[in-house]
Amino acid sequence: MSYKSKGRLDRRDFMIASIATVGASAALAVNAGAADAQAAATPPANPASGTVYTGDVIEGKKVISALDVNDLEPGKKHLLYFQGVEMPTGQHWYVSVTVAKGAKPGKRGILTSGVHGDEMSSVHTVQTVMNQLNPAEMSGTVMAVTDISRPALESMQRRWPNQGRGIDLIDMNREWPGNENGATAPSRHAGLLFNRLLRPNADFAIDFHTGTTGFEVTAFNLGGMDVPEVKAMVELYPVGQIFDNHVYPGVLHNAFMDVGIPSFTPEIGAARVLDREMSSLFVEGTTNVLKHHGIIAGPMGRTGKDVTVFVGNSAFPVLATAGGLVEHLVKLNDKVEAGQKVAIQRNSFGEVVAEYTSSVAGEITGQRSDAMSEPGNPLVFILFNKSVPEGVESYPE
Ligand SMILES: [Zn+2]
Repeated sequence: MSYKSKGRLDRRDFMIASIATVGASAALAVNAGAADAQAAATPPANPASGTVYTGDVIEGKKVISALDVNDLEPGKKHLLYFQGVEMPTGQHWYVSVTVAKGAKPGKRGILTSGVHGDEMSSVHTVQTVMNQLNPAEMSGTVMAVTDISRPALESMQRRWPNQGRGIDLIDMNREWPGNENGATAPSRHAGLLFNRLLRPNADFAIDFHTGTTGFEVTAFNLGGMDVPEVKAMVELYPVGQIFDNHVYPGVLHNAFMDVGIPSFTPEIGAARVLDREMSSLFVEGTTNVLKHHGIIAGPMGRTGKDVTVFVGNSAFPVLATAGGLVEHLVKLNDKVEAGQKVAIQRNSFGEVVAEYTSSVAGEITGQRSDAMSEPGNPLVFILFNKSVPEGVESYPE
């Protein structure tokens, strides 16, 4: 089963992503194909099965290089380190793995965060859900990995500082499902995690994100609502916006979708900060999802039915055309009309050098939070609905 069959792939990126960096990554990927042509570049069709303990223990946590949650003792929480990609020193990046293994069998869910290193509310959301679980009362398993892109998290930045050919910042959420023999560390790290840790243990998966440094977003869920298993989960969140879109290849939730595992991406406000209030909405929604799958018992909390939800299938980007100080005239979640002025920009003299209007009617879903901007930066994203034409769309990133 594959969800890839939609055929249309929106290239829109509502996060700020440097075109130069994307281009560099693409070039390296091409080199990778040539360099490892004789290696088995394709991930195994059947992901690694069985748990492999390396024999190492870090701060009391056993180290694994492959995991099958069926091997773990039921009715317990297990705290492990997964051995990720090898660094130039010969040491490895380890990621934290928390498994709540229910006393009874059932579905297996995966919660991830830290694919981008500056998205703290997503880390907190996953930790809070895991801390609430009591494996003795569970039917099924929930696994969490909160620090996927370790070196990006160490400096609380979006991208992985790859060392292979001088410093090169790589967006790990364009690398999935990765390649264990890839040319860059994030590609190899993604391949190891996806093949040996994530894919083999997932009946469904949720990859938590936030906006990025300098660009804040609302609370919303991003996923393909035409997939019934995804729609059923997304609608269980008491958050006010849904971005119904399959977005681009290379993101973690699409790597799961491509192998038949329903998945989507919650977005939890601003980067760098911990927004407890907004996080609590996603804790409640994720708890609902675990109930929906029968992993935990109890009545549903608030869902999308209890709030006003705006569903859009596209996000209209307003890009800066000048340099200067940006003044937003609308707030996140505001409704806007086509033609409505949403921001102005002033030069160093205080003169207005640009006025920005929305071309669509919709709701504000993202805003530049760094007040200075140069031409080309996204200033505003407006969630709206359009009749989507077939074929690939291209957007500024
Ligand atoms: Zn992100």
